[in-house]
Amino acid sequence: MAGLLIRNAVLDGSRTDALIEGGVFTAIRPGIDAPPGVETLDADGFILAPAFYNAHTHSAMSIMRGLADDLRLEKWLNEHIWPFEAKLTDDAVRRGVRLAAEEMIRSGTVFFNDMYWMPDIALQVADEMGMRAVIGPCLISNPLAKFTRAEELEEAYRHVAHPDLLSIAYAPHAVYSTDERLLRDTAEKAGANGRIIHIHASETRAEVDGCLKEHGMTPIAWMDKCGLLTERTILAHGVHLADDDIRLIRDRGAVVVHNPCSNYKLCSGQFDFRRVFEKGGCRVALGTDGCASNNSLSFFDEMKLAAFNAKIQSGDPECGKAEDIWRIATRGGAQAFGLDGGEIAVGRLGDAILLDPAAPALNPLHYLASALVYAADTSCVDTVICDGRILMRHKRLQ
Ligand SMILES: [Zn+2]
Repeated sequence: MAGLLIRNAVLDGSRTDALIEGGVFTAIRPGIDAPPGVETLDADGFILAPAFYNAHTHSAMSIMRGLADDLRLEKWLNEHIWPFEAKLTDDAVRRGVRLAAEEMIRSGTVFFNDMYWMPDIALQVADEMGMRAVIGPCLISNPLAKFTRAEELEEAYRHVAHPDLLSIAYAPHAVYSTDERLLRDTAEKAGANGRIIHIHASETRAEVDGCLKEHGMTPIAWMDKCGLLTERTILAHGVHLADDDIRLIRDRGAVVVHNPCSNYKLCSGQFDFRRVFEKGGCRVALGTDGCASNNSLSFFDEMKLAAFNAKIQSGDPECGKAEDIWRIATRGGAQAFGLDGGEIAVGRLGDAILLDPAAPALNPLHYLASALVYAADTSCVDTVICDGRILMRHKRLQ
């Protein structure tokens, strides 16, 4: 199919058509004639909005949903998650990623940045589902490293049907699970080939204290010393950041991924939206983290909690405005990975969702950002489009 013409959608309160050709929006106005060979989708007055970009997850962990709740991160990881993962099979990973992909698409997400074992499988599933993804093999100094399968990932990439939608990253797990050689090696390779670096960073107080004790500096400063902080570096969590850390992240152009549900569930702490984003000027995106520490992959849950977290953390209800939160979930997430998406505009990537205007959560509709961040849920999403292809039509996965 050469493209997609979305007819009769509502954008910014007005009826319009939107044409996607070659994977980008090429026209947005009423009365567009369908070019030859272009599929037409009648939106029938449904609301056209940007899709979501999940900047940090471990998709296969959906297979562990509800397995070990109500535990501290260290105990959760050491006594439950890692022992479970030691017995992982290809089939379990495939089922987990598939489950995650379905949940993400149903809730309007078209992209995910993944860090996990057996990454070749996540790549294959993302390709089968037609999603965008950055897949990073989890790099670690631990017996589980047998599941890293970086070479298998490179091989799998050579056979994908949608190479333009997919890329490979380096994903060192965290400073406490990697050594200096691994971090420096990662920085060197990423510098040479321009790949994304994806790492957990300053997620817990214990991680920061451990790094201060071992290296005499914070995890952010340590990563920078190892050459790891670049504008292609994705720092998951960033809950415990010193002022110097925030300046360093901003100056290097690295991205901090806010994962509010996981931070709350594991009691990792409260991300300081005002200090990092509003005043700190850092690039910020939104993530779900893995399903085992969430336990959903819906960006509606994530956006609402991100806004509430910003307000409680700052003591100011004007902090974490709906517009800002919606922006980091869409445009901010896309830009974090060099994708020109997350916005319905000519020239942007052809990713979008159609929302049901009859959904109670969207009525009355005074302000779309407010409705999406504070009231909407997965049931509002009717149709999902990625790269001009329909992934879900009238709530049915294609
Ligand atoms: Zn994580």
